Amino acid sequence: MQTNLADWIRDTPAGVEADSILRKCVHCGFCLATCPTYNLLGDELDSPRGRIYLMKQMLEGAPVTRRTQLHLDRCLTCRACETTCPSGVEYGKLVDIGRNVVEERVQRGAGDRFRRWFLKSTLPHGGLFGAALALGRMFRPLLPKALAAKVPRARPAGKIPAARHARRMLVLGGCVQPSIAPSINAAAARLLDRIGISLVDVPQAGCCGGVTFHLNYQDEALGYVRRNIDAWWPHVEAGAEAIVMTASGCGTTVKDYGHMLRHDKEYAAKAERIAAMTRDVSEVVAAERPSLARLFEGKSGAGRIAFQSPCTLQHGQKIVGSVETILKDAGFELTPVADPHLCCGSAGTYSILKPELSRRLLHGKVRALKAGRPEAIATANIGCLAHIETGTEIPVRHWIELVEERTAPRDGRG
Ligand code: SF4
Ligand code: SF4
Repeated sequence: MQTNLADWIRDTPAGVEADSILRKCVHCGFCLATCPTYNLLGDELDSPRGRIYLMKQMLEGAPVTRRTQLHLDRCLTCRACETTCPSGVEYGKLVDIGRNVVEERVQRGAGDRFRRWFLKSTLPHGGLFGAALALGRMFRPLLPKALAAKVPRARPAGKIPAARHARRMLVLGGCVQPSIAPSINAAAARLLDRIGISLVDVPQAGCCGGVTFHLNYQDEALGYVRRNIDAWWPHVEAGAEAIVMTASGCGTTVKDYGHMLRHDKEYAAKAERIAAMTRDVSEVVAAERPSLARLFEGKSGAGRIAFQSPCTLQHGQKIVGSVETILKDAGFELTPVADPHLCCGSAGTYSILKPELSRRLLHGKVRALKAGRPEAIATANIGCLAHIETGTEIPVRHWIELVEERTAPRDGRG
């Protein structure tokens, strides 16, 4: 489409980037069919095409209003529209720019500001979040039923193997995952240890910055990004092969570090290198399928699983089919899941900031996941796991936990 950006943004880095993205959109509307908020609300302004048009008007100098903010807030940043778009419109990058402009020009109400401030001040800090979760678990019997259902059950880590292999990869601990489900990284470490790779957690690294960035505290998020790069860099120079992500949400963010710090002279090259060596754990496991196959030998009857592919895995990282293949290798039967491209409604902090829309998406997702009568639901992201768990009695696991259990030696060692 033709654009004519306003003087105040045209020649800035954000303006140049937004302009090149906007020009790719041909307004065909193919993206509408796969947009969860358009499916739910049926309003063009809650579709990718409508939001793109709103952002174009805003960047061309039209007044920015609460209405603009509302329609951008309702977007899940699931990026299903990017997967569908035949013109390669990078909607996710555009909406980051658009939200930043709206945030500067439209004052939020006091309650909304406090909620967003509170979320960015607690979630990225694992210690604070862990303490709150421990209290929630302790007082669960006293909590109202609806609130008690939101407190994730404990998932102990089990044994974590010492680093003993020449092949070493780093693993991101992250912010909320170590408190909600330390079992996930522990399972990844045990599985990879069995095929000759040691996973090393660098404690100086922490939250990937994704939650903070998408709450639009972008400068603060870039501080987390630089801290993680500083923490990992000595290990990268010492020969770590990859940086492994067990949460696809974090993986999407860390793979974007090069873009996030592209204007930072000191960090740009390092950020690019970190992004390039970042792998979702499914990419690491898929590359080791031959070694893994021998661990599955003689084991049958793994059970029926419904796999929920998080938006950050399928749309953010474009990883499609890998986890399903690994689960089948491990002997699981995958049950059919309708509309697998649709978001479950977790979407970072969306389930807290837009609870009604999130709840409707969750109900639809749980219905689709349960349709094939699975014994368990598998996912690849901690946010989706904790969210889906609130909507079903079926156990929800990270797929790496299920596969690791299939490779465990019968004597219980290792
Ligand atoms: S599918 Fe792509 S080109 Fe078509 S309207 Fe949507 S974003 Fe624009
Ligand atoms: S990111 Fe998701 S919710 Fe937002 S416009 Fe695209 S498809 Fe719709």
